[in-house]
Amino acid sequence: MRVLLKLSGEALAGDKKTGFDEETVRKVALQVKQLTDKGTQVGIVIGGGNFWRGRTSENIDRVKADQIGMLATIMNCIYVSEIFRSEGMMTNILTPFECGSFTKLFSKDRANKYFEKGMVVFFAGGTGHPYFSTDTGVVLRAIEVEADYLLLAKAIDGVYDSDPAKNPNAKRYDTISIDDVVAQNLQVVDMTASILARDNKVPMRVFSLQEENSIVKAADGNFNGTTVTV
Ligand code: UDP
Repeated sequence: MRVLLKLSGEALAGDKKTGFDEETVRKVALQVKQLTDKGTQVGIVIGGGNFWRGRTSENIDRVKADQIGMLATIMNCIYVSEIFRSEGMMTNILTPFECGSFTKLFSKDRANKYFEKGMVVFFAGGTGHPYFSTDTGVVLRAIEVEADYLLLAKAIDGVYDSDPAKNPNAKRYDTISIDDVVAQNLQVVDMTASILARDNKVPMRVFSLQEENSIVKAADGNFNGTTVTV
């Protein structure tokens, strides 16, 4: 079994909302270790919102702002990878562009090699292109490395028909098809990523990172959240 886990940058920051919260990251590490100990191959994609977002930065060129965003995702992966190592896991970080000795250049063959060695593979730097997101990055990598499904650890515990923060009657889906996610413009991942997932049939499990052991439960398939079918 091969799964890709997407964590938002904010999730790493805990209540601080910016930078890193070590306790939060350790909890993630201990859960991922349970998966790798059982032989599950785990790839990780992390957002950059705890440092920088290209589209909301003012007064600078968007391409340059997005480059800063992509670099932020690499900082996040270096940090989380080190915490994973301190919990006894083997890790490697792959990026879509050269970062000298900090990371290795992504290729499918290289990712496969690391997965087969039981390493956790971090896919940092998003797609390597501006105007995309790490949502698109994680779906793209899931397709390329032929992952069985995506685990989306969020601040919210699944997919709703409207925003539960604004609508107290919002209904959560136990299961929804990726076709309906696209047709109803639901915010599971951003629309570019949703369409890529639909066209290439990438199943997803959406759940809250805050819930105890939620990553392990979602990987087992018996979890509190939403399954997005293809
Ligand atoms: N980013 C990018 N291309 C990618 C992935 C990320 O340009 O393929 C940049 C973009 O500026 C984004 C930031 O990195 O705002 C952080 O990525 P994340 O997916 O967390 O962004 P969000 O969707 O939260 O803005």
